[in-house]
Amino acid sequence: MAMVEGRANTRISEYLLDSPIESRFSEEKYILFLQGITAVFDGFKALDIEALGIEHNELRVIIGPNGAGKTTMCDIISGKTRPTTGSVYFEGQNITETAETEIALLGIGRKFQTPTVFDSLTTYQNMELALPGHQNWFANLYSKISPEENNQILSILERVGLKNELHTEAKYLSHGQRQWLAISTLVLSNPKLLLVDEPAAGLTDAETALTAELLLELKGEHTLIIIEHDMDFVRQLDSPVTMLHEGKIMAEGTLADLQQNEEVIEAYLGR
Ligand code: ADP
Ligand code: MG
Repeated sequence: MAMVEGRANTRISEYLLDSPIESRFSEEKYILFLQGITAVFDGFKALDIEALGIEHNELRVIIGPNGAGKTTMCDIISGKTRPTTGSVYFEGQNITETAETEIALLGIGRKFQTPTVFDSLTTYQNMELALPGHQNWFANLYSKISPEENNQILSILERVGLKNELHTEAKYLSHGQRQWLAISTLVLSNPKLLLVDEPAAGLTDAETALTAELLLELKGEHTLIIIEHDMDFVRQLDSPVTMLHEGKIMAEGTLADLQQNEEVIEAYLGR
């Protein structure tokens, strides 16, 4: 994210609104751009985002109190929920009406709040199933894993410290290990944009620190949007933060900027 010199507390959305509409998402500056997005459920406006741009290979943290609309925003980006108004652009393409499965194929991957791993499958089998083109694993027990794919699986598992748990069924892994396995399967599917919802929830301090390291390693190869509540974790990520409050962007900047913002303290951090 480009921090505007001398305007540390300027909301990016306001800054963006200074530039002509076409240049906001067509210049290949942003991998993802949300424009005029609202999500209304039974008359209740859960999300109301004027403009939000995520640059290629940036790591953006989204914070905000419960009910702020963070998960709804991920649902809209991934195509799980349709916005009531507005448009979502991914790599310059309008994906507002694109089917969820198609959006995944375009390169948007998602890790849900609770880790989605198959309990009765081993670590390795969970990875096998995540390989692009291997989703029919159950139907085709003999589907071949190439030596390259095998190496790729082992190198990712090594990075997250799961190489000694290859043949352990996922149900016997610790909560932290399950989170890393879920992130690993996501990485294996090699999405351009990863949406990661509350990865530190329920983790010990040591597990939280390792998760932050892992996600930071992914930055540069992938664009990441990370939703998080745990301020220690957000501090470790040391990345631009957008705060949502009652569905709107209340502030954007570094965590330090936000910690000095009266409005943010009042609404969230001070509690
Ligand atoms: P967060 O993830 O920031 O805690 P959510 O995006 O889950 O917030 O929820 C934002 C608001 O939208 C909440 O008030 C929630 O109850 C409401 N909401 C989310 N999804 C739906 C839905 N499918 N139907 C009705 N209300 C919803
Ligand atoms: Mg949520």
